[in-house]
Amino acid sequence: MSVIPLDPASPASYAVGIDFDQTLVAHDDGWQDGRIYGAPIPGAIDSLHALAGVRSVFIVTARHPRFHPAVATWLTRHSGLDAVVDDDPERAYWQGEALLVTNKKLGAALYIDDRGLRFGGDWTTTLAQARHAIGLAAHPAPTGPADRVAGSPGHGAPQGRDAFAEGSGAVRVPVRGRPGARLAAWGVPWPPTKGWRKRLAGHRQAEQD
Ligand SMILES: [Mg+2]
Repeated sequence: MSVIPLDPASPASYAVGIDFDQTLVAHDDGWQDGRIYGAPIPGAIDSLHALAGVRSVFIVTARHPRFHPAVATWLTRHSGLDAVVDDDPERAYWQGEALLVTNKKLGAALYIDDRGLRFGGDWTTTLAQARHAIGLAAHPAPTGPADRVAGSPGHGAPQGRDAFAEGSGAVRVPVRGRPGARLAAWGVPWPPTKGWRKRLAGHRQAEQD
């Protein structure tokens, strides 16, 4: 885990961002039109105090700004800490005593979020974790025999849009634009080598004969 100590040259290092819903507040009875009704998650308030004592803290929420005053009220009611609503559209950082309620991803030394995934510099690991977190197999299933033509330049790890093709995942994502698969079924490598149209035309003619 990377460590971001306080650095006077880095305004981001002064702040810790904390998600609101299901990180500070438990909303076990659903969205309820955005009403802020839940109780603090165990340990959340003590942790808010601990972090607010050593860094500036902002509470980042995707809730519509009309809910931000209610979030600030909830924070103050449960923690006794001052909380203010972010009213600066240009804000990039937060350094202040009060908890700031914002819907912007401000610069921070750290984010605490129930939906977060720490990126440690290795996208292979991160992509597998991300797929798992959204209900897919950690690694894409092979996309079918057509993609496994030996010697095809297209053989191997699917790229781009094809990387999201699911052979057996819980969620099937429609896959368009897979010329490699279609051509491979016709025996044409992907990307196609020079003269593939001519060879393909001869092949299909032979099929019809
Ligand atoms: Mg959340």
